[in-house]
Amino acid sequence: MKCRHCGSALRCDFLDLGFAPPSNAYLAAEDLSKPEVYFPLRLKVCEECWLVQTEDYASAESLFSPEYAYFSSASSSWLVHAARYVEMITRRLGLGQQSMVIEVASNDGYLLKNFVAAGIPCLGVEPTDSTADAAEKLGIPVLREFFGEALGKRLADESKGADLILGNNVYAHVPDINDFTKGIKAALKAGGTVTLEFPHVMRLIEQNQFDTVYHEHFSYLSLFTVGKIFESAGLRVFDVEELPTHGGSLRVYGCHADDPRQTTDAVTTLLAEEETRGLRSSAVYADFQVKAEKVKNDALAFLIEAKRAGKTVAAYGAAAKGNTLLNFAGVKPDLVPFVCDAAAAKQNKFMPGSHIPILHPDVISERRPDYVLILPWNIATEVRQQLATLAEQGTKFVTAVPDLKIQ
Ligand SMILES: [Zn+2]
Repeated sequence: MKCRHCGSALRCDFLDLGFAPPSNAYLAAEDLSKPEVYFPLRLKVCEECWLVQTEDYASAESLFSPEYAYFSSASSSWLVHAARYVEMITRRLGLGQQSMVIEVASNDGYLLKNFVAAGIPCLGVEPTDSTADAAEKLGIPVLREFFGEALGKRLADESKGADLILGNNVYAHVPDINDFTKGIKAALKAGGTVTLEFPHVMRLIEQNQFDTVYHEHFSYLSLFTVGKIFESAGLRVFDVEELPTHGGSLRVYGCHADDPRQTTDAVTTLLAEEETRGLRSSAVYADFQVKAEKVKNDALAFLIEAKRAGKTVAAYGAAAKGNTLLNFAGVKPDLVPFVCDAAAAKQNKFMPGSHIPILHPDVISERRPDYVLILPWNIATEVRQQLATLAEQGTKFVTAVPDLKIQ
């Protein structure tokens, strides 16, 4: 297999999670009597550009026909994050009624609604109908397409180029990252700015976040690698911020390569830190499998011990990362009888692979388990606040990543 960015042969293994069904392939009751498709879930790292990437496998297109879609507005902390970003970027770039903002993967309008409220023209690009419908109801124009070079050029030709292009948690999810980046180059006006947020592979490695690995998540990115990809598309990273979201993300600021804006010290400093932490040498990648297995074994040991001691366990948050952990660990409903999730679209379905039933959050309060395993550890604080009454009644909360914590 060749690197998706630079085409070099991929020789260095990063992580092997065995086989798993697509993490968003939630099952209805009638699906439980049908066969379930598992794909290999393995990552490699390119020793030329250091892009960490999923291994190719057959029939990848079947991953992209989900009936279920994630609605960004379901997370209150994410809504606050989006509103703060809009306020900051509007001020920083001096955006106004003459500006044009394009968000790629605009989802249900969780972010662009803030630009609509400020009277700043915007356009969402979102191929998923259910979320695009929700965004249009908020008065946001949406193009129901996948973003890439062809669409970027068309937007520029139709004089719909943007002063700001933004993408939150989409860059790591596109199969063809070069084509996507060329699309940004094409659709960005002269003097325009692009901001992209994605989980930082440096934090993934440091914090044992192997459960953020799933098939639809094609790339695991460092600032160094994003700089290389931008460069080959005629763009340049001129600033970067580290964010606490998703266990540690980067927000990169890019512009055309010939833009006069100076590259900030933040870029130079973070590039140096990545180098110091070994992100440009094979050893740090080669060691990761052992760390992932330790997290998995500790979580599994906890569940088995709880069961032996006659304690009850429930999980909270039917998130993609939960499916990665449960399927790598081979957990089934005998160890975790149910998981609760606030998203109505997931309720009364079953987790792919583990077949653990997904129930309304009220059930967790009714059944008062001894332990609640919070699968999306990135929102653990939010979940603990929501379930504060349970804690008063003696329930303990468990997170598995970066290492097993019971509190
Ligand atoms: Zn490469």
